[in-house]
Amino acid sequence: MTPEEKHAVRFIKGNKLSPPIDVEAAARLVADVEFVAFPPYTSADGITLDPKSARPRILVNSEKPRTRQIFTLAHEIGHVVIPWHTGNIVSHLDDIDLPYTSYWLCEREANHFAAELLMPTEWVNLLLATHSNGIRKIYKELLSQAEVSPIAATYRLSAILPINYAWAVSDEFGMVAETGRTHNSTINLCSSDGSVRVDDAYRFASSRETFESGGKQYCWWYFGDQDMPEVAHTATWRDVLRKILEDVEHDPSERKRLSTRISAVSGFILGKREYNSVREEYARVLSRFEGRSELRAVVRHRDFKTYVRLRVEEFLSK
Ligand SMILES: [Zn+2]
Repeated sequence: MTPEEKHAVRFIKGNKLSPPIDVEAAARLVADVEFVAFPPYTSADGITLDPKSARPRILVNSEKPRTRQIFTLAHEIGHVVIPWHTGNIVSHLDDIDLPYTSYWLCEREANHFAAELLMPTEWVNLLLATHSNGIRKIYKELLSQAEVSPIAATYRLSAILPINYAWAVSDEFGMVAETGRTHNSTINLCSSDGSVRVDDAYRFASSRETFESGGKQYCWWYFGDQDMPEVAHTATWRDVLRKILEDVEHDPSERKRLSTRISAVSGFILGKREYNSVREEYARVLSRFEGRSELRAVVRHRDFKTYVRLRVEEFLSK
């Protein structure tokens, strides 16, 4: 947990709040709050004036959608509460990829504070325990109780769910517009430039869940628990791979190039030497082959999973 998230936890406990937090009431504990229509064409979401004075003022842009106003308010509470945020601050919630300035660092910290205030880790974990295997239900709870947007809920789940999950948000045409993975996951992310259908993404995952809202899909894939193919152990992974390459590529020099590429992708995971079980390593290696268009013919070959299993078994038996 980051220092600014710890300040959110302390703010909740210190004021005896319990989730879901009434963010407007919480803001009025520490500041005067006004909802004001900012001039058209302003990108700003909110403003905090004199955050370290006896009574700071928070202005929220009432022209933005309600979920965004709620997140803004939680973000501005962050500027008031986080001790090192000083001076008047005009807020922009979107994490724009700009040079690493202290302004954008403060904005990011206030976003982390807001996410922890609106969707406290402890509370989200409780929801996850109550609705195991029910990501759709978690979204419904977060949207109705914390009044956050589906994308804010997605980022929060990405920060809290355990290893080996990938997620994607579609555009209105069902193409992947944004994608990510949970902390410490090594899943190779698919392209998010609008060229991959959500239905074609992450084909090696063991399960998928989708939440739909506003014409977009919020999809989650889990990679941890894979059914492995039965193998006879009469052939080595080298034999299986050679056969696959002969099936998909006629040019020997191109076969050699593909073989090198496949070894590099498998080796990335196995080289980490984490000594998990065969099933876990099998799932991790498969997830590294996601979204690699140059290897599409290889990974769709009927014996590809056999290759991966044999490769993992040999490595772990050393
Ligand atoms: Zn801000």
